[in-house]
This record gives sequence, structure tokens and C-alpha cells, in this order.
Amino acid sequence: MPDPTARPNARSPDSAADRLRRVRQRIEAACLAAGRPADAARLLAVSKTVPVETLADTLAAGQTDFGESYLQEALPKIVALAGRGAHWHFIGPIQSNKTRDIAAHFDWVHGVDRLRIAERLSSQRPAERGLLQVCVQVNISGEDSKSGCTPDEAPALCAAIARLPGLSLRGLMAIPAPVADAAQAHLPYRRLQALFATIKSTLGAAAGAFDTVSAGMSDDLEAAIAEGSTLVRVGTALFGARPAAHP
Ligand SMILES: *Cc1c(COP(=O)(O)O)cnc(C)c1O
Repeated sequence: MPDPTARPNARSPDSAADRLRRVRQRIEAACLAAGRPADAARLLAVSKTVPVETLADTLAAGQTDFGESYLQEALPKIVALAGRGAHWHFIGPIQSNKTRDIAAHFDWVHGVDRLRIAERLSSQRPAERGLLQVCVQVNISGEDSKSGCTPDEAPALCAAIARLPGLSLRGLMAIPAPVADAAQAHLPYRRLQALFATIKSTLGAAAGAFDTVSAGMSDDLEAAIAEGSTLVRVGTALFGARPAAHP
């Protein structure tokens, strides 16, 4: 008998549509439990290490937004699935020498944490691709090792990015430090939401479509949604565990 509480596994016989339905139901339940509309948070399918065939099935099942962290892995997938309506989000750390390819091939970038990177993406975005959608990554837990600007730096960075051509500043992104118990999972997301609200009101009209809080992953999406996330980045719960080399 299948164990309904078991995590989906890459080798499980479940169809892409089954997996997608389960994750979407989980997201909707979390939205409703938080007193928000069922569609308040949308799903970004994190497809790093996932083979392109599985992505094709997931796309055919109705999921259009995919997140990739490694440029060299992502580019062939983007090429293979071109013309099928997928939207590609770059969610990994961004090195300067990668900005040209990211600007040319992606629709969204979630990990912008310094102006230099935003300026490169702005000048390298091909005009025919329209605006590149950008989230500023905030190191919300104050970890030494993590990417992301500090919460103090975020307002000025957002204001500067909002002025750059070729980019549309959409919101904030964070990857909080792991916490020991579920109750503590809320605090960083609450801080992120407060920072988002402050920046949105400070930017005013200059904010444009500043509407995205990219927060929450397989293990903590309920906490993130309870605190206002509008986009959860889910890999493991949708595609199964990744090889250990790709945490
Ligand atoms: C890998 C990754 C995720 C997905 O994590 P899961 O725990 O597998 O859902 C989300 N966000 C970022 C930035 C990632 O690198």
C-alpha cells in the first residue's frame, strides 16, 4: 500500500500531473489556512537536476514557471522546451560573467543582491525580450555565508534598480537559515514581509509592479505563505529528492 505521507520520489510511478496537483493543493490549503485567497501564492517549480523529459511532462500538465540555479544546466533545457510557453526563473547566485546569458535567456531573476549585477543585467537585456523581471535577494537571517543584501541595504538597492531600463523590479526574495522547530520558521518571513511593505510604500509610484515576495520551499512553504509569500519555490516536494551534490 502506498504511504500517503511519503515524499514523492524521482522514481515513483506518480505522473507529473499527480505530483503537481498535490503540491498545488498544499499551496491552496496553506493560503486558505492563512485567511488569504486560494490563489494568493503561486508555484515556481524548481527544476535543477530534473531531466528535461520530466519538465516537459510537468509543462504539459499545466505548470509554466520553472526555477533553475545553474546556468550551464538550464540553457539546454530552455532551448529544448522553447516555444511551449515556459517561463524561466534564474534562482541561483549570480556571477558577473553569467549576466549576459541570464539576461538573454531568462524571464525572471530572483537573486539580485548588488547594483553592479543589476546594471549588467539592465544593459545586457535584449530589447526584443521585453523587461527582465527582478527580485532583490535579502539575507533575512543575517548569515555570514549567504548571498543577499542586508535588510538595511535593500531599500536603496530597490530604489536604484527601479530606475534601470530593461528591468522590472518585482519584489524581494529570501532563503532563511534552517530552523530547529517549525514555530521558528515564521519569523524570518515576517521580517521579509515587513521589509517588503516598507519598500513598497517608500517607492510609491516608482515601484511599478512591486508585487512579489519569493519565499518558501518544500519544507516551510506553509510558514512562508502564512507570512505573505506570493511565490513559493518548490523542488523536492514536486520532483523528489535531488542528488546530494545539489542541495
Ligand atoms: C533548490 C532551491 C529551492 C527548492 O528547494 P526544495 O527544498 O527542494 O523545495 C528553492 N529555492 C532556491 C533558491 C533553491 O536553490
